[in-house]
Amino acid sequence: MLDVSKTDERYKVLFEPVKIGPVIAPNRFYAVPHAMGHSPLMRNGSHAMRATKAEGGWGTVCMQLAEIDPTSDICDLPIETFWDEGDVREHRVLTDRLREIGSLSAIEIAHTGIRGRGMGTGMPVWGPSNLPCLKPQVPVQSKAMDKADIKALRQSFRAAVRRAKQAGYDIVYIYAAHDASILWHFLSPAYNHRSDEYGGSFENRLRLMREVLEETVEEAAGEMAVAVRLAVHEVGGRGKITHDGEGRDVVEALADLPDLWDVNIATWPHDSGTARFDNEGWQEEFTSFVKQVTSKPVVGVGRFTSPDTMVSQIKRGVLDLIGGARPSIADPYLPNKIREGRIEDIRECIGCNICVSSDAFSIPLNCTQNPTISQEWKRGWHPENVPHAKVKKNGLVVGSGPAGLECALVLARAGHHVTVAEKAGELGGRSLSESRLFGLGSWARVSDYRLYQLRQMSNVDLFANSDLNAESVAEMGADHTFIATGSHWLKNGLGSTHFEAIKGFEENALSVDEIIKSAKPEGPIVIYDDEHYYMGNVIAAHFAQLRHDVTLVTPQPYIAGWMGYTLEQPRVNKQMLELGVKVVPNAVASHHDGSALHLSDANTGALLAPVAGTLVPVGLRAPNLELWQALDGLENKTLIGDAVAPGIIQSAVFSGHKAARTFLNRGVEPAMKRERGVLY
Ligand code: ADP
Ligand code: SF4
Repeated sequence: MLDVSKTDERYKVLFEPVKIGPVIAPNRFYAVPHAMGHSPLMRNGSHAMRATKAEGGWGTVCMQLAEIDPTSDICDLPIETFWDEGDVREHRVLTDRLREIGSLSAIEIAHTGIRGRGMGTGMPVWGPSNLPCLKPQVPVQSKAMDKADIKALRQSFRAAVRRAKQAGYDIVYIYAAHDASILWHFLSPAYNHRSDEYGGSFENRLRLMREVLEETVEEAAGEMAVAVRLAVHEVGGRGKITHDGEGRDVVEALADLPDLWDVNIATWPHDSGTARFDNEGWQEEFTSFVKQVTSKPVVGVGRFTSPDTMVSQIKRGVLDLIGGARPSIADPYLPNKIREGRIEDIRECIGCNICVSSDAFSIPLNCTQNPTISQEWKRGWHPENVPHAKVKKNGLVVGSGPAGLECALVLARAGHHVTVAEKAGELGGRSLSESRLFGLGSWARVSDYRLYQLRQMSNVDLFANSDLNAESVAEMGADHTFIATGSHWLKNGLGSTHFEAIKGFEENALSVDEIIKSAKPEGPIVIYDDEHYYMGNVIAAHFAQLRHDVTLVTPQPYIAGWMGYTLEQPRVNKQMLELGVKVVPNAVASHHDGSALHLSDANTGALLAPVAGTLVPVGLRAPNLELWQALDGLENKTLIGDAVAPGIIQSAVFSGHKAARTFLNRGVEPAMKRERGVLY
């Protein structure tokens, strides 16, 4: 039994065991399957990440999507293979480890149907019908599966279920979510154009899912629980499955057949909604009916980080288990913190989807809030603990942005005395200043979490209004100085397209920093976005809300290109339209004449109509190196964060963390282990 002696009475319900078919989850915290960017060749990293979640109190920990055989081939993404005996041996190591810690293990076996591309295996993509593969701009079509293919698929599912049992999993999944499952493709009339017994009526389209589920239950034979992961509602996508239509019909039809319903919404951008567009618990509107239809336990997600919201979901009969992907990435120890009455210690996910973007790049996932994710095995980093310093030293951190605060926190946790000096009136750097922009409120969680921790420690001094120079740094006589002075936005037009300044920009534009410090321009606003992440469109939304006439110009064919990786780009497009922002793509700036921005077409060079208004260029930032350069003669110093090379907040946090770990390791950067494939 879990020790709940320190748990707030209100939250004790979260630590009740839940029976899931033949197994019992020790509590209601359920780390759902999520892409983790570790390919099957990165077992050590993958296992260590999941073991850390189990140690942090997640009562059930799921493996990411695991392809049942080579006919399911999302070849450019590092997802799991679960094809044969070799995979069983590898997975057994994980399930043994989780069992030892006290958590249940689950595997989401899947066939990705027309989400596959078949380019890695050279096999045809399988689908209910002859369709384009669900990756735009990939010239691959699916084969309409014949009866022999369907039979082979069912056998493959059966074999994978047997392997899941051999590998020691407690729960095996049938996956039908995110429009990335062949069972979903057969279900949806948008994809299923068949006229045989697997197409046409709802019962026919459901047939394959029902058969696979029944056969899974049979193979599991009461030794493993069987879960169904179903997107009960499509927002975006083809919109055919809805919570008040066939999404509900599926749950009604299969109600008590599985041991657990894991329900969410499709498509992935809506399931993994960011804080800019979806508030905690936003899926309830679509998933709340499920518990009324089935007597089996239900798990769902919603970027849950507040125990009050979690309890409310349980008490109101919305969910039985609190699903977490991003909350479990940002804070693998979230359940333990609630159990131990340490609510303020929770490192809340900020809903930025940097974790998701890692998957798109096929790299082990990164997280803005948790720099230790994916580093558990590779560098031996723990999300809560750092090695204790035998000899106490004095560290000075100049700058209190994400890099400075993370660095200070690691040093302080090791037992060193830390002084943080910040020239602004408030601590927090860009995580605080940017959080004041429209839609970025949750960015403040980066500094809130770290400042709260630092304020509890007696070995930490925090000073705002402290603009340090070389003399004051020398006077402080720290054993080591960390310079985290950040960066500032340029307004001369330098950006991803422009490697030279643009005429008339410097003298006529307002910089992003001036906007953030609440410059209040009047009249029309013209944003020239040559950065292609969030800042350009956030500022556009900010001024559109204030009823300015806003034009967002970009030399690229579309706005916010990088936000495709965070799944936000379609939603940004929609937001711009809804807010009345005029978007001008493919437009390259030539100069600003004091009243208007002059443009030419990116493809033909033809002149375009000039756009009048206050210009805000969003392009490059320059590191703030004045202090660093003035400290030339000072020994024992490290430059960190945006002051090294301006980037995303995640890399600043990581930089601060790594610098502090290096210091704790007597100045030697912690070794990075690599994984190598093993032949069986
Ligand atoms: P990062 O993302 O690298 O942490 P930020 O820009 O968020 O960088 O934070 C840098 C912080 O450093 C800002 O809050 C800035 O006010 C502060 N800063 C810059 N120069 C000095 C200085 N000379 N003394 C104290 N603080 C400084
Ligand atoms: Fe949350 Fe961002 Fe971390 Fe993902 S990267 S878990 S969205 S804080």
